[in-house]
Amino acid sequence: MKLEAWLVTDVGVVREHNEDSAYMEPANGFFIVADGMGGHAAGEVASAMAVDTVRKTLEAARKEIETFKRAPTDTGRRGIVQLLQSAVLSAHQAVFQRGQHEADKAGMGTTLDVVLIAGPEAFVAHVGDSRTYLVRDGRSSQITTDHTVAEVLVIEGKLTIEEAQVSPLRTILVNAIGVSADVGVEMAHVTLKRGDRLLLCSDGLHDYFPIEEEIAQKLSTDAPGDALKDMVELAKTRGGHDNITGVAVQVTDVIEAVPDRLDGEMTQPVDLPGANPFASDEPTETAVLDAAGTPQVAAPAAPPPAADETPSDAPSDVASEGRATQPMRPVPGGESAPAPAAPQAGGAASPPAPPAADLMSDTTLDTEPVPAADELAGKPAAASPPAPPADGADGADGADRTGESGDATGEPRDADAAPADAARVRAGKHDR
Ligand code: CA
Repeated sequence: MKLEAWLVTDVGVVREHNEDSAYMEPANGFFIVADGMGGHAAGEVASAMAVDTVRKTLEAARKEIETFKRAPTDTGRRGIVQLLQSAVLSAHQAVFQRGQHEADKAGMGTTLDVVLIAGPEAFVAHVGDSRTYLVRDGRSSQITTDHTVAEVLVIEGKLTIEEAQVSPLRTILVNAIGVSADVGVEMAHVTLKRGDRLLLCSDGLHDYFPIEEEIAQKLSTDAPGDALKDMVELAKTRGGHDNITGVAVQVTDVIEAVPDRLDGEMTQPVDLPGANPFASDEPTETAVLDAAGTPQVAAPAAPPPAADETPSDAPSDVASEGRATQPMRPVPGGESAPAPAAPQAGGAASPPAPPAADLMSDTTLDTEPVPAADELAGKPAAASPPAPPADGADGADGADRTGESGDATGEPRDADAAPADAARVRAGKHDR
């Protein structure tokens, strides 16, 4: 597998600090983007801690990754998934513990997207509202879902996709690294092909590219690095209200032999035998695991509109093609909904995945009922605390993020109101 990659991060045109952190080691196949939140520079600390923790964890596992690349097996694949989960949970614990012990870091948190490419396989771990896209054959597909209140309300039928695209709740996270005791880790798996591009980015970038076709157009050029720079400049031209970070990866060649059983696969849920009710009839799923490895299922999410644009800026077909997401448990509020009972992860084979064409058409999938939606009903609204901030000097996103983490911070509920969640986190760590 030959990869080329580019990383661009920019403070934007409004913020004084860049709270995004990113890192990549193309030679070792890993790529990380984190978008921090929290006052007094805590956001920068959180995102940097998360990136650093994941980097160290992956570097320490280089041997295991190399072994898998040489001889990809289901056991090895399961090991890689657990490695990524473990890396993300370690990052979560590091940020959460520091937030607990340092007053000026209280409530800090971060999004986290990690892509690990081993042989022709890309493993994705995701928390929050940064995104990972796959661009293939001139088309773009969002691999991750947004863990936001607006997405939860869309799932519950309380907001239309159009309403969600302009709702201030679209920037309030229901799941983040380090903010509360509990966190859910969304996992995805993609079998790469030559010419594929991946884009990891913070919302400061994807907010200004609500139409996936534009992302595909940009990154499908022969020079994805230049295209990424161009996208960052465009994000600034279009408002630049937030920090802007993107990592673009190009698969220049696929050298390793792909096991026969993976031929034609694009995306498959990982490591969740018997746990995924949609595995057999839904073209793509994203496996979502909470700290204990309890899987949930997510359909891909619809892109939000650019923050400073009116809905009319987004063509209606974006909305109609929008995809629903399976929300994580809400972070705000002390009543975190427990994950639905489900078998622990840990079985062997991944369910068969659909042909590539199915994934690429997944933007037109109807919303599937999602198991946890009912369970989550009402929670985000009840829990969502921060009055939607006015569109102020800091920009809507910044205000929201600040409001969210500030609120999460101000109440000790995360530590003492959710012992079950804390136990689950510990159990998850012990499992690994
Ligand atoms: Ca951001």
